[in-house]
Amino acid sequence: MYMSKLYAPTLKEDPADAELASHRLLLRAGMIRKEAAGLYSYLPLAWRSIRKIENIVRDEMDAAGAQELMMPIMVDAELWRESGRIDAYGKELVRFDDRHGREFVLGPTHEETVTALVRNELRSYKQLPVNLYHIQDKFRDEFRPRFGLMRGREFIMKDAYSFSATQESLQEEYDKMKQAYANICERCYIKALPVVADSGEIGGDTSVEYMALADAGEASLVYCDECGFAADDEAASTKVVVTEGPGDGTLTKVETPGMGTIEAVAKFFGFPENGTRKSLALIDAEGKPVVAIVPGDHELNDCKAEHVFGKGYRMMTDEELQANGLHKGFIGPVNLPEGIRLVCDESLRESKQWACGANEVDYHFTGACPECDFTVDEWADLVTVVAGDPCPHCGKPLSAARGIEVSQVFQLGTKYSEAMGATFMDEDGKEKPLIMGCYGVGVSRSLAAVVEQHNDEHGIVWPVSVAPYEVAVIPLDPKKEECATVCEQIVDGLCAEGIEVVVDDRDERPGFKFADNDLMGFPYQVVLGKRGLKNGTVELKDRATGEREDVAIDEVVAKVA
Ligand code: ATP
Ligand code: MG
Ligand code: MG
Ligand code: MG
Repeated sequence: MYMSKLYAPTLKEDPADAELASHRLLLRAGMIRKEAAGLYSYLPLAWRSIRKIENIVRDEMDAAGAQELMMPIMVDAELWRESGRIDAYGKELVRFDDRHGREFVLGPTHEETVTALVRNELRSYKQLPVNLYHIQDKFRDEFRPRFGLMRGREFIMKDAYSFSATQESLQEEYDKMKQAYANICERCYIKALPVVADSGEIGGDTSVEYMALADAGEASLVYCDECGFAADDEAASTKVVVTEGPGDGTLTKVETPGMGTIEAVAKFFGFPENGTRKSLALIDAEGKPVVAIVPGDHELNDCKAEHVFGKGYRMMTDEELQANGLHKGFIGPVNLPEGIRLVCDESLRESKQWACGANEVDYHFTGACPECDFTVDEWADLVTVVAGDPCPHCGKPLSAARGIEVSQVFQLGTKYSEAMGATFMDEDGKEKPLIMGCYGVGVSRSLAAVVEQHNDEHGIVWPVSVAPYEVAVIPLDPKKEECATVCEQIVDGLCAEGIEVVVDDRDERPGFKFADNDLMGFPYQVVLGKRGLKNGTVELKDRATGEREDVAIDEVVAKVA
């Protein structure tokens, strides 16, 4: 590919509204463009990387015995009625009528479709287990699409669904998927930790999320370097408090406590009716009280306060509460400082049951707010271990990290098969519901996660396995015959080795080309300069280490290969 032809409009300046490295750099490197909130076009370079991630995913799924197929994006809403999810899923689900007035949804995930697909034809235990997957655009009308590919409304997911006759068989499929997901992360050079997401009533590990470690992650984690214990705390992951309030970010005043008031306040903040389990007391950087609510047995600690509200915030001590004429249970006046918005997050409001998790059974916390209008999951349940605490497993001090959920495996059991009448004939001649698992990889989010983990001040630093091209050949005088000839020779040599090459044949200054190539982040750059060519050498630069070395023209291909 010649860069003079490549459609990769790079940007010199940082786009204004892109906070995260991945969002900023994918835009700047001319890889993605926004069409509307949460809707992105993948330009040619990004699309090449996406296809590489997809192929790694495919490879691992196939190796684990799953079979690829493709199901429609549009799903008959009737199936969602059968499963009962049509109302439960809330506004993330996009619904529409076709011209005949039949209702459809855009699949945010495909449990219903796949269950309906197999229910008439997967009839005998002899056919089981089966694991089916597809790689497809998903649509979720996220309340706050943001951070580029990280949280889109239309995004690419690999979703797989397994059908088993027994719990043991489901466990086997599930374990295979977990291994496949670990392999996928490794092959994409995503450093990720498996975190048990929700043990449910069954207990044990029935769902694991793979959390890519990155400061930009929405989830906060603690983990143990020694034994691999990891816990996440979705609760403190966003700096948003849910409330209706006056809507301008200010809660004016809530009167001093008395149990009734506390309950009202707890409800206002979306805590469960008996909100006394939680406590929260914050002061701002100047020591002014910001929020103090609800005494309880769970103390919010300084670390968590800083996490939720940002630097400078910590808990009020009992002395400080007293000195301010407050006591625990006091709220307000609450003038929320800049940067802390009070918004009503519909997606939280609608998720009536959620959990933050750990991969240690007793460290799961499940919270629900089935009644009240607004759900604050930020504080509703807090992981009781924080960085520095001893690992509950081995006692070594825990480290803190933030994480991006790149994938999740889930043991569904018979939830869908029972609701939708998907049964099979078992060995004993009895009709039983299929036992299901579902397994999702965020393909487009994984691309963003790779960039979060692999970038520097100059741009993206692609790992070879997912780089749009492996090598950029950069002739500094592309119009000079000698330079052009050597360029062609090297490109031919690289192509013959099956190495993907892009040639920067643009008529631009060297400095411009270097900056652009660093930004786009190809793993190797082969620079053809005047002086080197005279000596029969080119410069080989390793993008990751920044190391450059002069290499003889006829050795450079072998060196890269
Ligand atoms: P999140 O907690 O981030 O909202 P989720 O738990 O709702 O994600 P799943 O239903 O588990 O997502 O979907 C499987 C995978 O799809 C996720 O692990 C994630 O990588 C990806 N994914 C989910 N929502 C989005 C989105 N809005 N944009 C990009 N990728 C997404
Ligand atoms: Mg979600
Ligand atoms: Mg999630
Ligand atoms: Mg998930």
